[in-house]
Amino acid sequence: MSVRPLNIDPSKCFIAGAWVDSLGGQTMPLTNPSDGSTICEIARGQSADVDAAVAAADAALGGEWGRATAAERGRVLAKIGLAVLTHVDELAALEAMEVGKPLKQARADVLALARYMEFYGGAADKVHGETIPYLDGYTVYTLREPHGVTGHIIPWNYPMQIIGRSVGAALAMGNACVLKPAEEACLTALAFAEIARQAGLPDGALNVVPGLGAEAGVALSGHSGVHHISFTGSVGVGKLIQQAAGANVVPVTLELGGKSPQVVFDDADIDAALPFLVNAGIQNAGQTCSASSRILVQRGVYDEVVAGMAARYQALRAGPAVDDLDVGPLVSMRQKEIVAGFIAKGSDLRVAAQGQVIASAPKGGAYVTPMLFADVSPDHTLAQDEIFGPVQVIIPFEDEAEAITIANGTAYGLVASCWTENGARQMRMARALRAGQVFINNYGAGGGVELPLGGTGLSGHGREKGFEALYGFSVLKTVAALHG
Ligand code: NAD
Repeated sequence: MSVRPLNIDPSKCFIAGAWVDSLGGQTMPLTNPSDGSTICEIARGQSADVDAAVAAADAALGGEWGRATAAERGRVLAKIGLAVLTHVDELAALEAMEVGKPLKQARADVLALARYMEFYGGAADKVHGETIPYLDGYTVYTLREPHGVTGHIIPWNYPMQIIGRSVGAALAMGNACVLKPAEEACLTALAFAEIARQAGLPDGALNVVPGLGAEAGVALSGHSGVHHISFTGSVGVGKLIQQAAGANVVPVTLELGGKSPQVVFDDADIDAALPFLVNAGIQNAGQTCSASSRILVQRGVYDEVVAGMAARYQALRAGPAVDDLDVGPLVSMRQKEIVAGFIAKGSDLRVAAQGQVIASAPKGGAYVTPMLFADVSPDHTLAQDEIFGPVQVIIPFEDEAEAITIANGTAYGLVASCWTENGARQMRMARALRAGQVFINNYGAGGGVELPLGGTGLSGHGREKGFEALYGFSVLKTVAALHG
């Protein structure tokens, strides 16, 4: 498909279908993590900008967008999906530049964004209420209605995918959205808003206010005109968002972090497992909520799996996003320092293998060497805490019971997988693993537009993606008519 130029002004907010300066007039620099250079200035939105965005969303609900039928909403989303496909190269380049992810990963994320629009466009008019048998003389039915104004506070690691899954589902159900992208990555959010406008999304149905979490984020999560908050990010900020939402008694979806295990049994197809075991840990430089950072391996195949993963790690190359290697830089020098701190805490561990940062990688880039640790105790910091970098630990286990204890032995519960040819064990493990998603003989870090995702424990609550998200982005109303 052809590439058409996007006309966005990254120093502005996108409110009511127009590019507007932040009312405080402030901007802040956006950094390219591949080399440390400044890409451009972006708007530093304040509470007054959030007020304007919420008012614009509210006005959209009272106007053309609020009157649109489910089929009409679906058609607009489908058009947006097609429009996204005409901008694959531009969007991928923007996300690779601001986040540092290799171009092929960024392209996959653009396609996922388009898929979300197709999926939620197709689903918009397929969410039905029910009729409920009740007393004689009554007809009782349910309606699924939008919350109203939905707030979307998202992180930097997969901006396009997270916009797709949360804004896409919210719009499908007839909500009007205010999106606060992460301060490290807002270009694709702004570009998406422009694409949606050009594809026919009415003004005010989607508003974007870039800014800091402590400013625009706090203003949005505590805004009394917001009726639902979707947050994806860290556990600490998730707790703050839940408190802010609680003050206004509005529902909140929290998609937080993880420490997701893959469990490899003696009877597993090791050759099939190996690419998944490694890719799920290093994809997006390990900065994936559902990254599989713990690999649990039964004793009988332990040495074989460690050797197989080690060989793959030795071949890993990290470098600038445009070089399109296995691993890009981390999103920022701050993130690099956090990950380096974790690697230092692994100084007592056996390094099974490590990758390599290419010699030509710019010195100002946020690169870390991918690290694989073996023989790790389940209670070690590196086996308990979310690292959010290209670091995996391998933990041995004896039997199924011990595997379950270790797999469920963190505060998180986002994704898990088990590798075994034993069908009965597959079923037992699927039930026993504490996670919002369980994969059997595969692993899906990211992706899977159709598959509901969400956590237990510190990984959060509520579900996004798939059809399930449509229930979360709507409110059930019961209508009871007495007609005799
Ligand atoms: P973060 O929590 O620091 O920031 C996320 C967003 O919240 C950003 O837009 C930020 O500006 C905003 N924010 C920060 N402080 C705020 C506040 N006080 N009030 C309101 N908003 C505020 O997270 P991050 O470092 O950008 O992302 C990494 C984390 O996100 C990891 O823990 C990762 O596991 C998690 N994550 C989870 C999923 C999922 O689907 N479960 C997906 C991606 C990332």
